[in-house]
Amino acid sequence: MTALARSWVESANDPDGPFPLNNLPFGVFTVGDEPASAGRCATAIGDQVLDLAALEGAGLLPESGFSEPSLNRFMSLGAAAWSDVRERLTSLLAHETQEADGADAATNDVVRAALHPAGEVTLHRPFEVAEFTDFYAGRHHAFNVGSMFRGPDNALPPNWLHIPIGYNGRASTVVVSGTDIRRPLGQTKAPDADRPVFAPCERLDIELELGAVVGTPSEMGSAVTVDEADDMIFGYVLLNDWSARDIQTWEYQPLGPFQAKAFATTIGSWVVTKAALEPFRTATPPREAELLPHLRDTTPMLYDVELSVSMSAGGDEPTVLSRTNAKELYYSAAQQLAHHASSGCAMRTGDLLGSGTISGAESGTYGSLLELSWGGDQPFTLDGGQTRSFVQDGDTLALHGHAEGDGYRIGFGPCVGTVLPAHD
Ligand code: CA
Repeated sequence: MTALARSWVESANDPDGPFPLNNLPFGVFTVGDEPASAGRCATAIGDQVLDLAALEGAGLLPESGFSEPSLNRFMSLGAAAWSDVRERLTSLLAHETQEADGADAATNDVVRAALHPAGEVTLHRPFEVAEFTDFYAGRHHAFNVGSMFRGPDNALPPNWLHIPIGYNGRASTVVVSGTDIRRPLGQTKAPDADRPVFAPCERLDIELELGAVVGTPSEMGSAVTVDEADDMIFGYVLLNDWSARDIQTWEYQPLGPFQAKAFATTIGSWVVTKAALEPFRTATPPREAELLPHLRDTTPMLYDVELSVSMSAGGDEPTVLSRTNAKELYYSAAQQLAHHASSGCAMRTGDLLGSGTISGAESGTYGSLLELSWGGDQPFTLDGGQTRSFVQDGDTLALHGHAEGDGYRIGFGPCVGTVLPAHD
Protein backbone atom coordinates (compact mmCIF):
# COMPACT_ATOMS: atom_id res chain seq x y z
CA MET A 1 0.00 0.00 0.00
CA THR A 2 1.28 3.49 -0.78
CA ALA A 3 2.56 5.75 2.02
CA LEU A 4 1.63 9.30 3.01
CA ALA A 5 2.50 11.78 0.25
CA ARG A 6 3.95 14.75 2.09
CA SER A 7 2.76 18.28 1.32
CA TRP A 8 4.11 21.72 2.22
CA VAL A 9 0.62 22.38 3.61
CA GLU A 10 1.68 21.02 6.99
CA SER A 11 -1.83 20.15 8.24
CA ALA A 12 -2.13 17.70 5.32
CA ASN A 13 0.58 15.50 6.85
CA ASP A 14 -1.50 14.56 9.92
CA PRO A 15 -1.78 10.73 9.70
CA ASP A 16 -5.33 10.89 11.11
CA GLY A 17 -6.47 13.84 8.98
CA PRO A 18 -9.05 13.28 6.23
CA PHE A 19 -7.39 15.30 3.47
CA PRO A 20 -3.72 14.42 2.85
CA LEU A 21 -2.12 14.96 -0.55
CA ASN A 22 -3.09 11.35 -1.36
CA ASN A 23 -6.76 12.33 -1.29
CA LEU A 24 -7.47 15.53 -3.27
CA PRO A 25 -11.28 15.27 -3.30
CA PHE A 26 -13.35 17.71 -5.37
CA GLY A 27 -16.07 20.07 -4.18
CA VAL A 28 -17.66 23.49 -4.68
CA PHE A 29 -17.21 26.43 -2.30
CA THR A 30 -17.75 30.11 -1.61
CA VAL A 31 -15.82 32.34 0.80
CA GLY A 32 -17.43 34.42 3.54
CA ASP A 33 -20.76 35.93 2.43
CA GLU A 34 -20.31 35.43 -1.31
CA PRO A 35 -23.59 34.36 -3.00
CA ALA A 36 -23.99 30.71 -4.03
CA SER A 37 -23.78 31.83 -7.67
CA ALA A 38 -20.11 32.69 -7.00
CA GLY A 39 -19.47 29.02 -6.21
CA ARG A 40 -16.41 27.50 -7.85
CA CYS A 41 -14.54 24.23 -7.70
CA ALA A 42 -12.05 23.33 -5.03
CA THR A 43 -10.01 20.56 -3.53
CA ALA A 44 -9.34 19.98 0.17
CA ILE A 45 -5.78 19.82 1.43
CA GLY A 46 -5.28 19.46 5.18
CA ASP A 47 -7.29 22.20 6.90
CA GLN A 48 -7.34 24.34 3.75
CA VAL A 49 -9.62 24.59 0.72
CA LEU A 50 -7.80 25.29 -2.55
CA ASP A 51 -9.56 27.43 -5.18
CA LEU A 52 -9.18 25.56 -8.48
CA ALA A 53 -10.74 28.38 -10.50
CA ALA A 54 -7.88 30.63 -9.37
CA LEU A 55 -5.31 28.05 -10.47
CA GLU A 56 -7.09 27.54 -13.79
CA GLY A 57 -7.19 31.32 -14.31
CA ALA A 58 -3.45 31.54 -13.66
CA GLY A 59 -2.80 28.84 -16.25
CA LEU A 60 -1.64 26.29 -13.67
CA LEU A 61 -4.46 23.86 -14.49
CA PRO A 62 -5.98 23.01 -17.89
CA GLU A 63 -9.35 24.51 -18.87
CA SER A 64 -11.77 22.33 -16.90
CA GLY A 65 -14.74 24.54 -16.04
CA PHE A 66 -13.50 25.07 -12.49
CA SER A 67 -15.06 28.56 -12.31
CA GLU A 68 -18.52 27.00 -12.59
CA PRO A 69 -20.51 26.19 -9.41
CA SER A 70 -20.49 22.45 -10.16
CA LEU A 71 -18.01 19.74 -11.08
CA ASN A 72 -20.09 18.52 -14.03
CA ARG A 73 -17.98 20.03 -16.80
CA PHE A 74 -14.77 18.60 -15.30
CA MET A 75 -16.44 15.23 -14.67
CA SER A 76 -17.56 15.05 -18.31
CA LEU A 77 -13.99 15.35 -19.57
CA GLY A 78 -13.10 11.76 -18.67
CA ALA A 79 -10.34 9.74 -17.10
CA ALA A 80 -7.36 11.31 -18.90
CA ALA A 81 -8.39 14.84 -17.83
CA TRP A 82 -9.08 13.69 -14.26
CA SER A 83 -5.65 12.12 -13.93
CA ASP A 84 -3.91 15.11 -15.57
CA VAL A 85 -5.44 17.51 -13.02
CA ARG A 86 -4.63 15.16 -10.16
CA GLU A 87 -0.99 14.93 -11.25
CA ARG A 88 -0.65 18.70 -11.59
CA LEU A 89 -2.23 19.34 -8.18
CA THR A 90 0.01 16.71 -6.61
CA SER A 91 3.04 18.42 -8.09
CA LEU A 92 1.93 21.92 -6.98
CA LEU A 93 1.27 20.80 -3.39
CA ALA A 94 4.10 18.30 -2.87
CA HIS A 95 6.60 18.91 -0.08
CA GLU A 96 9.44 19.37 -2.56
CA THR A 97 7.69 22.27 -4.31
CA GLN A 98 8.18 24.47 -1.25
CA GLU A 99 11.92 24.76 -1.87
CA ALA A 100 11.40 26.09 -5.38
CA ASP A 101 13.01 29.34 -6.54
CA GLY A 102 12.62 31.68 -9.52
CA ALA A 103 9.59 30.93 -11.71
CA ASP A 104 8.59 28.00 -9.50
CA ALA A 105 8.58 30.26 -6.42
CA ALA A 106 6.15 32.59 -8.23
CA THR A 107 3.94 29.59 -8.95
CA ASN A 108 4.09 28.65 -5.30
CA ASP A 109 2.89 32.16 -4.37
CA VAL A 110 -0.15 31.76 -6.66
CA VAL A 111 -1.04 28.47 -5.00
CA ARG A 112 -0.64 29.94 -1.49
CA ALA A 113 -2.92 32.84 -2.41
CA ALA A 114 -5.61 30.36 -3.56
CA LEU A 115 -5.75 28.59 -0.18
CA HIS A 116 -8.59 29.40 2.22
CA PRO A 117 -8.91 28.09 5.79
CA ALA A 118 -11.69 25.49 5.77
CA GLY A 119 -13.45 27.36 8.59
CA GLU A 120 -13.94 30.42 6.37
CA VAL A 121 -15.68 28.74 3.44
CA THR A 122 -19.14 27.40 2.73
CA LEU A 123 -19.31 24.09 0.89
CA HIS A 124 -22.09 23.63 -1.66
CA ARG A 125 -23.55 20.61 -3.42
CA PRO A 126 -20.53 19.52 -5.46
CA PHE A 127 -22.28 18.60 -8.70
CA GLU A 128 -25.57 19.06 -10.50
CA VAL A 129 -27.34 15.76 -9.91
CA ALA A 130 -28.62 14.62 -13.30
CA GLU A 131 -30.65 11.70 -11.99
CA PHE A 132 -30.59 9.70 -8.78
CA THR A 133 -30.96 5.94 -8.81
CA ASP A 134 -31.00 4.04 -5.57
CA PHE A 135 -29.92 0.41 -5.36
CA TYR A 136 -30.33 -2.29 -2.75
CA ALA A 137 -26.92 -3.94 -3.02
CA GLY A 138 -26.20 -4.67 0.65
CA ARG A 139 -26.69 -8.38 1.34
CA HIS A 140 -27.08 -8.04 5.11
CA HIS A 141 -29.50 -5.13 4.88
CA ALA A 142 -31.66 -6.91 2.31
CA PHE A 143 -31.67 -10.04 4.48
CA ASN A 144 -32.46 -8.14 7.69
CA VAL A 145 -35.30 -6.12 6.22
CA GLY A 146 -36.63 -9.13 4.30
CA SER A 147 -36.56 -11.19 7.51
CA MET A 148 -38.60 -8.56 9.35
CA PHE A 149 -41.31 -8.49 6.69
CA ARG A 150 -41.31 -12.02 5.23
CA GLY A 151 -39.32 -14.20 7.64
CA PRO A 152 -35.71 -15.42 7.15
CA ASP A 153 -36.65 -18.22 4.72
CA ASN A 154 -38.10 -15.73 2.22
CA ALA A 155 -35.91 -12.74 3.11
CA LEU A 156 -34.20 -12.30 -0.27
CA PRO A 157 -36.47 -11.81 -3.28
CA PRO A 158 -35.83 -14.42 -6.02
CA ASN A 159 -34.09 -11.86 -8.28
CA TRP A 160 -31.73 -10.49 -5.61
CA LEU A 161 -28.74 -12.74 -6.31
CA HIS A 162 -29.00 -12.14 -10.09
CA ILE A 163 -29.42 -8.36 -10.50
CA PRO A 164 -28.64 -5.31 -8.36
CA ILE A 165 -32.21 -4.21 -7.59
CA GLY A 166 -32.83 -0.47 -7.93
CA TYR A 167 -35.46 2.20 -8.48
CA ASN A 168 -35.40 5.69 -9.95
CA GLY A 169 -35.31 8.27 -7.17
CA ARG A 170 -35.45 12.08 -7.23
CA ALA A 171 -32.52 14.32 -8.14
CA SER A 172 -34.42 17.49 -7.17
CA THR A 173 -34.11 16.83 -3.45
CA VAL A 174 -30.48 15.72 -3.25
CA VAL A 175 -28.90 18.23 -0.86
CA VAL A 176 -25.43 18.85 0.51
CA SER A 177 -24.30 17.96 4.01
CA GLY A 178 -25.45 20.51 6.59
CA THR A 179 -28.84 21.15 4.97
CA ASP A 180 -31.73 20.82 7.46
CA ILE A 181 -34.30 18.14 6.61
CA ARG A 182 -38.01 18.82 7.04
CA ARG A 183 -39.94 15.84 8.42
CA PRO A 184 -42.17 14.69 5.56
CA LEU A 185 -45.94 14.56 5.52
CA GLY A 186 -47.46 11.52 3.91
CA GLN A 187 -50.21 8.98 3.74
CA THR A 188 -49.98 6.07 6.15
CA LYS A 189 -52.33 3.40 7.37
CA ALA A 190 -52.03 1.52 10.64
CA PRO A 191 -52.59 -2.25 10.21
CA ASP A 192 -55.77 -2.17 12.31
CA ALA A 193 -57.16 1.09 10.87
CA ASP A 194 -60.03 1.20 8.39
CA ARG A 195 -58.72 4.19 6.45
CA PRO A 196 -55.37 5.88 5.82
CA VAL A 197 -54.45 9.28 7.29
CA PHE A 198 -52.30 12.15 5.94
CA ALA A 199 -49.93 13.22 8.70
CA PRO A 200 -46.27 13.74 9.64
CA CYS A 201 -44.09 10.63 9.26
CA GLU A 202 -43.71 8.82 12.59
CA ARG A 203 -40.98 6.38 11.56
CA LEU A 204 -38.31 8.61 10.04
CA ASP A 205 -35.12 6.70 9.25
CA ILE A 206 -31.73 7.05 7.61
CA GLU A 207 -29.80 4.80 5.26
CA LEU A 208 -26.00 4.70 5.30
CA GLU A 209 -24.90 4.46 1.68
CA LEU A 210 -22.02 5.21 -0.64
CA GLY A 211 -23.02 7.18 -3.74
CA ALA A 212 -21.18 6.62 -7.03
CA VAL A 213 -20.94 9.71 -9.25
CA VAL A 214 -21.01 9.15 -13.01
CA GLY A 215 -18.45 11.21 -14.91
CA THR A 216 -18.66 10.21 -18.55
CA PRO A 217 -22.01 9.40 -20.18
CA SER A 218 -23.24 6.43 -22.20
CA GLU A 219 -25.47 6.51 -25.27
CA MET A 220 -29.09 5.48 -25.41
CA GLY A 221 -29.30 2.05 -27.00
CA SER A 222 -25.76 1.05 -26.00
CA ALA A 223 -24.94 -1.22 -23.09
CA VAL A 224 -21.63 -0.92 -21.23
CA THR A 225 -19.48 -3.67 -19.78
CA VAL A 226 -18.65 -3.74 -16.07
CA ASP A 227 -15.11 -2.60 -16.94
CA GLU A 228 -16.43 0.29 -19.05
CA ALA A 229 -18.82 1.21 -16.26
CA ASP A 230 -15.94 1.37 -13.80
CA ASP A 231 -14.13 3.76 -16.15
CA MET A 232 -17.21 6.03 -16.31
CA ILE A 233 -17.30 6.54 -12.53
CA PHE A 234 -15.65 9.79 -11.39
CA GLY A 235 -15.78 9.19 -7.66
CA TYR A 236 -17.78 8.51 -4.53
CA VAL A 237 -19.68 10.48 -1.88
CA LEU A 238 -21.22 9.54 1.45
CA LEU A 239 -24.99 9.38 1.02
CA ASN A 240 -27.84 9.37 3.53
CA ASP A 241 -31.05 8.16 1.89
CA TRP A 242 -33.61 9.54 4.36
CA SER A 243 -36.58 7.16 4.52
CA ALA A 244 -40.11 7.43 5.90
CA ARG A 245 -40.79 3.83 6.90
CA ASP A 246 -44.50 4.22 7.70
CA ILE A 247 -45.15 5.93 4.36
CA GLN A 248 -43.04 3.29 2.62
CA THR A 249 -44.98 0.39 4.18
CA TRP A 250 -48.29 1.71 2.82
CA GLU A 251 -47.15 2.78 -0.64
CA TYR A 252 -44.39 0.41 -1.75
CA GLN A 253 -46.38 -2.32 -3.46
CA PRO A 254 -46.35 -2.86 -6.38
CA LEU A 255 -43.94 -0.23 -7.79
CA GLY A 256 -41.48 0.30 -4.93
CA PRO A 257 -40.68 3.34 -2.77
CA PHE A 258 -42.03 6.74 -3.88
CA GLN A 259 -42.85 9.56 -1.42
CA ALA A 260 -41.10 7.61 1.37
CA LYS A 261 -37.79 8.46 -0.29
CA ALA A 262 -38.55 11.48 -2.48
CA PHE A 263 -38.39 14.20 0.18
CA ALA A 264 -34.62 14.28 0.82
CA THR A 265 -31.26 12.63 0.17
CA THR A 266 -28.12 14.11 1.74
CA ILE A 267 -24.68 13.76 0.16
CA GLY A 268 -21.25 14.71 1.49
CA SER A 269 -19.56 17.91 0.35
CA TRP A 270 -16.54 16.20 -1.18
CA VAL A 271 -16.38 13.74 -4.07
CA VAL A 272 -13.54 11.34 -3.32
CA THR A 273 -12.00 10.24 -6.59
CA LYS A 274 -11.58 6.70 -7.77
CA ALA A 275 -7.85 7.49 -8.06
CA ALA A 276 -7.56 8.26 -4.33
CA LEU A 277 -9.39 5.03 -3.47
CA GLU A 278 -7.35 2.89 -5.88
CA PRO A 279 -5.11 1.35 -3.12
CA PHE A 280 -8.23 0.25 -1.25
CA ARG A 281 -9.90 -1.84 -3.94
CA THR A 282 -11.23 -5.14 -2.69
CA ALA A 283 -13.16 -8.00 -4.28
CA THR A 284 -16.90 -8.51 -4.01
CA PRO A 285 -17.89 -11.38 -1.68
CA PRO A 286 -18.15 -14.93 -3.12
CA ARG A 287 -21.10 -15.21 -5.51
CA GLU A 288 -23.95 -17.23 -4.06
CA ALA A 289 -25.36 -17.68 -7.56
CA GLU A 290 -23.29 -17.34 -10.70
CA LEU A 291 -23.99 -14.00 -12.37
CA LEU A 292 -24.84 -13.76 -16.04
CA PRO A 293 -21.77 -12.72 -18.08
CA HIS A 294 -22.76 -9.04 -18.51
CA LEU A 295 -22.68 -8.48 -14.74
CA ARG A 296 -19.50 -10.37 -13.82
CA ASP A 297 -16.61 -8.30 -12.48
CA THR A 298 -13.10 -8.90 -13.77
CA THR A 299 -11.05 -7.18 -11.04
CA PRO A 300 -11.72 -6.01 -7.47
CA MET A 301 -14.28 -3.21 -7.69
CA LEU A 302 -15.44 -2.65 -4.11
CA TYR A 303 -13.52 -0.43 -1.69
CA ASP A 304 -12.36 -0.99 1.88
CA VAL A 305 -13.91 2.14 3.41
CA GLU A 306 -14.73 2.26 7.12
CA LEU A 307 -18.13 3.83 7.77
CA SER A 308 -20.05 4.98 10.82
CA VAL A 309 -23.42 6.44 11.81
CA SER A 310 -23.79 8.79 14.76
CA MET A 311 -26.78 10.55 16.24
CA SER A 312 -27.14 13.50 18.57
CA ALA A 313 -30.34 14.60 20.26
CA GLY A 314 -30.96 18.35 20.34
CA GLY A 315 -27.32 19.43 20.24
CA ASP A 316 -25.99 16.77 22.65
CA GLU A 317 -22.67 15.04 22.02
CA PRO A 318 -23.04 12.49 19.21
CA THR A 319 -23.41 8.80 20.00
CA VAL A 320 -21.90 6.35 17.51
CA LEU A 321 -24.71 3.93 16.68
CA SER A 322 -22.99 1.76 14.13
CA ARG A 323 -19.68 0.94 12.46
CA THR A 324 -19.43 -0.98 9.22
CA ASN A 325 -17.50 -1.10 5.92
CA ALA A 326 -18.29 -0.52 2.25
CA LYS A 327 -16.79 -3.92 1.42
CA GLU A 328 -19.97 -5.47 2.90
CA LEU A 329 -21.76 -4.63 -0.37
CA TYR A 330 -22.61 -7.59 -2.61
CA TYR A 331 -22.59 -5.63 -5.88
CA SER A 332 -20.06 -2.93 -6.83
CA ALA A 333 -21.10 0.44 -8.26
CA ALA A 334 -19.65 -0.67 -11.60
CA GLN A 335 -21.99 -3.67 -11.61
CA GLN A 336 -24.93 -1.41 -10.73
CA LEU A 337 -24.02 0.98 -13.54
CA ALA A 338 -23.56 -1.86 -16.07
CA HIS A 339 -26.95 -3.24 -15.05
CA HIS A 340 -28.52 0.23 -15.33
CA ALA A 341 -27.25 0.68 -18.90
CA SER A 342 -27.87 -2.94 -19.94
CA SER A 343 -31.30 -2.21 -21.42
CA GLY A 344 -29.93 0.69 -23.43
CA CYS A 345 -30.73 3.29 -20.77
CA ALA A 346 -28.52 6.35 -21.35
CA MET A 347 -26.42 7.35 -18.35
CA ARG A 348 -25.48 11.01 -17.90
CA THR A 349 -22.73 13.10 -16.38
CA GLY A 350 -23.82 13.80 -12.81
CA ASP A 351 -25.91 10.66 -12.39
CA LEU A 352 -25.83 9.54 -8.78
CA LEU A 353 -26.08 5.85 -7.90
CA GLY A 354 -26.83 5.02 -4.26
CA SER A 355 -25.36 1.70 -3.16
CA GLY A 356 -28.24 0.74 -0.93
CA THR A 357 -27.93 0.57 2.84
CA ILE A 358 -24.60 -0.82 3.99
CA SER A 359 -24.98 -3.09 7.01
CA GLY A 360 -22.71 -5.72 8.49
CA ALA A 361 -23.87 -9.08 9.80
CA GLU A 362 -24.26 -8.21 13.49
CA SER A 363 -26.03 -5.65 15.65
CA GLY A 364 -23.80 -2.57 15.96
CA THR A 365 -22.94 -2.75 12.26
CA TYR A 366 -26.34 -1.84 10.81
CA GLY A 367 -26.77 1.12 8.47
CA SER A 368 -30.42 1.99 9.27
CA LEU A 369 -32.40 2.66 12.43
CA LEU A 370 -34.99 0.17 11.17
CA GLU A 371 -32.38 -2.53 11.71
CA LEU A 372 -30.78 -0.99 14.83
CA SER A 373 -34.18 -0.94 16.58
CA TRP A 374 -35.30 -4.11 14.75
CA GLY A 375 -38.42 -2.71 13.20
CA GLY A 376 -38.94 -0.29 16.10
CA ASP A 377 -39.38 -3.14 18.62
CA GLN A 378 -36.00 -2.71 20.35
CA PRO A 379 -35.29 0.97 21.11
CA PHE A 380 -31.63 1.88 21.63
CA THR A 381 -30.18 4.33 24.15
CA LEU A 382 -28.00 7.35 23.34
CA ASP A 383 -25.06 8.30 25.57
CA GLY A 384 -27.14 11.14 27.04
CA GLY A 385 -29.77 8.63 28.22
CA GLN A 386 -32.51 9.29 25.63
CA THR A 387 -34.01 6.31 23.86
CA ARG A 388 -34.82 6.17 20.15
CA SER A 389 -36.37 3.80 17.66
CA PHE A 390 -36.49 6.35 14.82
CA VAL A 391 -35.44 9.98 14.29
CA GLN A 392 -37.12 12.67 16.39
CA ASP A 393 -37.35 16.39 15.58
CA GLY A 394 -34.11 18.17 16.47
CA ASP A 395 -31.97 15.05 16.09
CA THR A 396 -28.81 15.33 14.02
CA LEU A 397 -27.61 12.32 12.05
CA ALA A 398 -24.05 12.13 10.75
CA LEU A 399 -22.29 9.66 8.49
CA HIS A 400 -18.50 9.44 8.43
CA GLY A 401 -16.18 7.42 6.25
CA HIS A 402 -12.51 6.94 5.51
CA ALA A 403 -10.10 4.46 3.99
CA GLU A 404 -7.21 3.63 6.32
CA GLY A 405 -3.84 3.66 4.55
CA ASP A 406 -0.35 3.10 5.91
CA GLY A 407 0.19 6.36 7.85
CA TYR A 408 -2.59 8.28 6.14
CA ARG A 409 -6.34 8.36 5.65
CA ILE A 410 -8.59 9.09 2.70
CA GLY A 411 -11.50 10.89 4.38
CA PHE A 412 -14.89 11.75 2.89
CA GLY A 413 -15.81 14.63 5.20
CA PRO A 414 -19.08 14.36 7.13
CA CYS A 415 -22.56 13.83 5.70
CA VAL A 416 -24.85 15.56 8.22
CA GLY A 417 -28.47 16.58 8.52
CA THR A 418 -30.72 17.86 11.33
CA VAL A 419 -34.44 17.07 11.29
CA LEU A 420 -36.94 19.93 11.59
CA PRO A 421 -40.60 19.47 12.59
CA ALA A 422 -43.10 18.82 9.82
CA HIS A 423 -45.05 21.75 8.38
CA ASP A 424 -48.55 22.19 9.82
CA1 CA B 1 -31.70 3.46 -0.08
